[in-house]
Parts: sequence; structure tokens; C-alpha cells
Amino acid sequence: MTQLLEKIRALQSAVDGLTEAEARLSGIPDWMRELHEEHAARKAEITALEEVAEQATRERREAEAEIAEIQAKLQRYQTQINQVTTQREYGALLQEIDTAKARITEVEELGLACMARRDEAEAAIQEQREAFQDLDQRYSEELAKWEAEKPSVASQAEELRKRIAELRGEIPRGYLSQYDRVAARHNGDALAPIRELDNLRKGPRSWHCGSCNFNVRPQVLVEVSRKESLLLCDSCKRILYVPEEEEG
Ligand SMILES: [Zn+2]
Repeated sequence: MTQLLEKIRALQSAVDGLTEAEARLSGIPDWMRELHEEHAARKAEITALEEVAEQATRERREAEAEIAEIQAKLQRYQTQINQVTTQREYGALLQEIDTAKARITEVEELGLACMARRDEAEAAIQEQREAFQDLDQRYSEELAKWEAEKPSVASQAEELRKRIAELRGEIPRGYLSQYDRVAARHNGDALAPIRELDNLRKGPRSWHCGSCNFNVRPQVLVEVSRKESLLLCDSCKRILYVPEEEEG
């Protein structure tokens, strides 16, 4: 007959397995994480470059609109220049025309700079997209592989749920609720192994809790080794067990 503590350990291990399976089903699997992050980062880079290109295009259009506006103004000045009567008016108008022409040159330069910026961004986008193609392809393949794996993880989770229900049915109610209380306090992690302290100097053997390092008394070790009851660590209050490598 399986002893109580063995069943509790089997229950903990099934619960751990189920938690892991559920996390895998709801998230990105570890083996894909790096690729996923690289994929997202590259995609963000391309998006940022696209924004730079769009901004440059918008600014270029604004520059063109301003030039058109100034040119219309210049035409009006040309008409007015034939109608002025005083030297003063004439001079003032010439001044306006010079200012407008200077502004056109300035805005034209701005527009050219925008075009250069846009061309540069677009070349970079092109380059990034080509580099991205390969990554994107790999990412889709891995994603498909992960989708194909999901059903087996889901059925693993189903098996574990059944196993948990079975074990819970076999463990006496009092011990089960004790386990549940401890597990709830420790975020599902109800068990702690007893470890022997490495005594470099000769002296009596001593043991400690593998979770919190608190001292475990020899009588507790003996009691835990019988596997017929649940004993808690005096400090962290987890259920103690003796791992196989420390047994005997
Ligand atoms: Zn402890």
C-alpha cells in the first residue's frame, strides 16, 4: 500500500505538472520565447521606420503646400508692382518679394531634406523586410509546430486532472485539507525536502529544511521517514519529506 506521504508527494507532482501544462497552453512555450521576442522586436523596428517615412512624407507635403502659397503671393506682388505709384511702395514690395523668394528657397531645402529622410527610411525598411522574411518564416513554422503540440499538452493536462482527482480520493480527508491549507499558503508549493547539512568538521549529523534552511530535529526526520503522517517545517510550515537521495 502506498504510504500517505508518497501520495501527498504524487499529488504535489501532479499539481505541479498541471500548473506547468496550463501555463504552456496559455502562453508562449519556452523554446519559442527567444524567437517570439526577436520577431516582435524586428516588427517594432520596421513599424518605427514606417513612421519615420510617413512623417517625412507629411512634412514634404506641407513644404509643397507652403511653396504653392508663397508662389501665389508672389504672383499677386507682380500684379501690384505695376500699380504702385510711389518709390516707397515700390521698395516695400520689392522687399516682400525678396523675403518670399528667400522663404521658397528655404522651404525647398526642407522639402529636399524630407525626401532624403524618407528615401533613407524606405531603403532601411526594404532591407529590414528582407531580413525579416526569413525570421517571419521561421516564426510561422514554429508557431504551427506549437499549435500542433497543443492538443498533446491539453490531453496531458486532462490526464493530470484525472490523476489529481484519483489521489485526492485516496488521501484521508483530514490530511488532504491540511495539504490544501499549506499549498494555499505557499502558492501551490506545499512540500519541502529535508537535507543533511554538510558537516565539514566532525560532529553530530544535522538536517535542515530544503526550502527555508531552518533546522530539522532528528526526531522529526525519523517521523517523516515513516511517511505515515504529515509534519511541517517549524519555520516555513511546509510539509517535510525525505528525498530519495537522502534516504537510507
Ligand atoms: Zn522550512
